[in-house]
Amino acid sequence: MTRDDTGGTAAVDAVVVGAGFSGLYMSHRLRELGLSVQVFEKAPDVGGTWYWNRYPGARCDSESHIYCYSFSEEIRDEWVWSERYPEQPEILEYLRFAADHLDLREQISFETAVESATFDGDAGTWTVETDDGESVTSQFFISAVGCLSEPYIPDFDNRSAFEGEIYHTARWPQDGVDLDGKRVGIIGTGSTGIQLTPEVADRAGHLTVFQRTPNYAVPARNRPLEDDEWAEIKANYDEIWEDARFSWLGMPFEMTHATTAGMSDEEIRDALEDGWQAGGFRFLHTFEDTLFNDDTNEIVSEFLREKIREQVEDPETAEKLVPTAHPYGSKRPPMDYGGYYETFNREHVTLADVAENPITEFTPEGIQTTADHYDLGTVIFATGFDAMTGALLAMDIEGRDGHVLEEEWEGGPRTYLGLGVDGFPNLFTITGPQSPSVLSNMPVSIEQHVDWIADCIEYMQSEGYEYIEPQSAAAERWVSQTNMLANEMLFSEAESWYRGANVPDKPRVFTPFPGGVETYRRECERVVENGYEGFDFAESLGPLGTSAD
Ligand code: FAD
Ligand code: NAP
Repeated sequence: MTRDDTGGTAAVDAVVVGAGFSGLYMSHRLRELGLSVQVFEKAPDVGGTWYWNRYPGARCDSESHIYCYSFSEEIRDEWVWSERYPEQPEILEYLRFAADHLDLREQISFETAVESATFDGDAGTWTVETDDGESVTSQFFISAVGCLSEPYIPDFDNRSAFEGEIYHTARWPQDGVDLDGKRVGIIGTGSTGIQLTPEVADRAGHLTVFQRTPNYAVPARNRPLEDDEWAEIKANYDEIWEDARFSWLGMPFEMTHATTAGMSDEEIRDALEDGWQAGGFRFLHTFEDTLFNDDTNEIVSEFLREKIREQVEDPETAEKLVPTAHPYGSKRPPMDYGGYYETFNREHVTLADVAENPITEFTPEGIQTTADHYDLGTVIFATGFDAMTGALLAMDIEGRDGHVLEEEWEGGPRTYLGLGVDGFPNLFTITGPQSPSVLSNMPVSIEQHVDWIADCIEYMQSEGYEYIEPQSAAAERWVSQTNMLANEMLFSEAESWYRGANVPDKPRVFTPFPGGVETYRRECERVVENGYEGFDFAESLGPLGTSAD
């Protein structure tokens, strides 16, 4: 049955929220299973991240040949990436092409935000309500809302008093922004701020970068993909993807060395130089224990600190740009596409250290810190996202017996495998908290989640089950395991968005699963082989939530 256009209640088999990489593939798989599907998407087009993030310099840090779908031979054969790391317009075009090729647009309602989803215990269905007053019922409610899709804007005093223009990088206007000759301020030096800074410096009359925490950027070493290189990738495609699926980060790269222990200083330096020259995430593959071992990490971090000092002419500015308070990799490593550090050698670029002198307020003319006033015409927030849970909890989700997701997660998210939540029958969360998601090359993790969910629904169809729900004890165990693994690594040494530290009052818990893509995939496969261990299935609602596990 398809949704009726009258605004009345209608029934579909599945509602999917979001039309980025996740929602598009999910709706394709469900339709292949013969299910009727309704997708809701806030944006006027497909693309998700790549629809919204149009700021100058936006491109992916994953290499293009693995930052895409692998499931369709036709898509893969027809599409040719131009660069090692494609720019936002090219990735958006790719997702548009995929949506058209798979003929997915008809089942998507664009410019429609899901506001709530409520499980009706009598009917045994979800009722999904949108911001345009629509109400749809469905058997399955599938979130594909993205881990990094709810922008975070710090609540600076007097922001509305500012008489210039304000933008957030993840809500960049379609028609672009005129920055030529302007006095521009960028707040934030994460992956986004670092990509953006050199591009804005090329256009602005004056640029001030407001930095609270310096970061370790490694050169991406972008370049065009040559025909013969692309031909070789295509010839080995299946092997490359299989390596990515059974890897640490969802990337088909080998670790160069296990550890620094036992190597001479010269050997270590050569290894790090090789990683530096290879660029991008290949650098992180130099030593396998970089995120586990303080000694190795300090060597790697110190190598990067020296590289920063070499690139910045003014020693005082260089020291401000050198990170000392967190180990390399404990925050998401950013990539440098256009001489980020060297940008601070330019006459018209100022670094404002807002750790030392915090922003106190906006004024009509700019930004006031505890030390100085900065006159600005345009302020760009590169301040990131309410990550992992922001977009999910922006919807009011109520499960069976009055379980409200926001209340259940007051102390932090709690899922089983990042795929489902106890108390919420037939809810699936693609790249949910406690799955590898943002600690991986995401298309690999997205395909794995979507395939797992689709296979599970197919299994339910074949067995005559109407409902699935994780057992509480299984979720409890999974969350403990995720926390235990995170505590063994260096993640706890940084105030990062991985831990919710960027958003005031957010619970400080480590949200992604840090055990690696391969370990996680094998665990998901093991769960299925053991008859979906940790999940309850039922033909009617009665038995759910009663399992003693
Ligand atoms: P998204 O692309 O975020 O799509 C979610 C969609 O859901 C959005 O379109 C949103 O509008 C919609 N939505 C949310 N809530 C609602 C609602 N209530 N109602 C209706 N619609 C809703 N990952 C990598 O692996 N490698 C990279 O190099 C990389 N680069 C990135 C660069 C940037 C600038 C950013 C921000 C992220 C990057 N990521 C990268 C992560 C990226 O988010 C994922 O790779 C991927 O695009 C996620 O796809 P998705 O479909 O799961 O989520
Ligand atoms: P982010 O990593 O959260 O960085 C936000 C920046 O804003 C940080 O420097 C933060 O400082 C600063 N900030 C936040 N609140 C502030 C305040 N009140 N005062 C001063 N500074 C403040 O966000 P992001 O750079 O948008 O990146 C988010 C994630 O998106 C990345 O980690 C990555 O996963 C993804 N991404 C990927 C790419 C890519 O692959 N090419 C590009 C962009 C983004 P603190 O560090 O002190 O909190």
